[in-house]
Amino acid sequence: MNLEKAAKTLGWKPFRLKQVWHARENELKTSWSELTNLPKTEREFLSEQVPFDSLSIVVSQTSEEGAAIKWLLKAQDGHLIETVLLIHSGDKKAWGTVCVSSQVGCPMRCAFCATGQMGLTRNLTSDEILDQFLIAKREAKSRGITGNLNVVFMGMGEPLLNLESVIPAIKVLIDPKRHGLSPSRVTVSTSGILPGLEKLRAEKLGIGLALSLHAPTDELRSKLMPANTAYPLAGLMAHLRKWEKEGVEILYEYILIEEVNDRIEDAEALAKLLKGRNAKVNLIPLNPVPNSALKRPSKNRMHRFLEIMEKAGIAVTLRHTKGDDIQAACGQLKTKNS
Ligand code: SAH
Ligand code: SF4
Repeated sequence: MNLEKAAKTLGWKPFRLKQVWHARENELKTSWSELTNLPKTEREFLSEQVPFDSLSIVVSQTSEEGAAIKWLLKAQDGHLIETVLLIHSGDKKAWGTVCVSSQVGCPMRCAFCATGQMGLTRNLTSDEILDQFLIAKREAKSRGITGNLNVVFMGMGEPLLNLESVIPAIKVLIDPKRHGLSPSRVTVSTSGILPGLEKLRAEKLGIGLALSLHAPTDELRSKLMPANTAYPLAGLMAHLRKWEKEGVEILYEYILIEEVNDRIEDAEALAKLLKGRNAKVNLIPLNPVPNSALKRPSKNRMHRFLEIMEKAGIAVTLRHTKGDDIQAACGQLKTKNS
């Protein structure tokens, strides 16, 4: 059973549940036996009936330079997912970004994405989403990382196809009495599921939004991302204006793929599409994907693209790919053994 059900069985008053949340999420206790403010009989009951974590660590890998940690995590039903913690050495103190998964696999089948090759197995529960963050939070603490943690829904899965778990999880992340993250530190990334975007916007959570754009025209985008056929660019870009009007700066992710979307005309079309919008572009060098002919462009071609965007006055960065050696970069999440 889960904690909420156990609380009912034990006839807990609300404050008890809050105590347990506080012990797990703020004091970062890792087992029922450590919750000594609970009666012993209840601790024993919980130890037998309720797994303290919904996910267990199967493998954890640290990248060579130590800037990324990737976990392979196992759910109660044996399914495997991945979570990444990226560590940034700030001016004063180190801070982190936690890349969480929202589904086991993903149904969207984008051509460049390892997760997309798996298809969808199931949605994650909000507990499973939150426990990924918790595992990363414990790690950050053990490494003495005292800066803020950000959460990006850029791991496995399409978060807007699992809003029934994603929205409650975000609410816990930003609840001042729970994890207490500032809403702007949480970013949902989507391949552009329009009905999901509308639903998420209606929640008025104050979070950040990233659109996986990857191509400036419908023709090219539909080739790379089958979702574009259902939700073409004109409708998406018109919808994003509503977020912009509410002060959200949209992050546009654009994976650079040699000779596919990294040509001069692609950069010019992208600049034209985003001109005059509250937009920031993150250019992402393609990470190699198994069984795919798609290639990462040369440094020269990537910088040429970057310069065209800069000259057009678009806020743009070229992502430095941390964790390549352990395949921990977001978007490369595919559990080999599933
Ligand atoms: N499904 C959502 C969120 C998960 S994907 C989405 O598509 O936005 C998270 C990011 O990883 C997306 O920008 C995605 O395009 C990127 N990504 C996927 N495959 C990649 C690859 N081979 N190399 C680099 N980034 C990749
Ligand atoms: Fe799914 Fe995102 Fe990968 Fe596309 S890029 S297959 S939407 S996880």
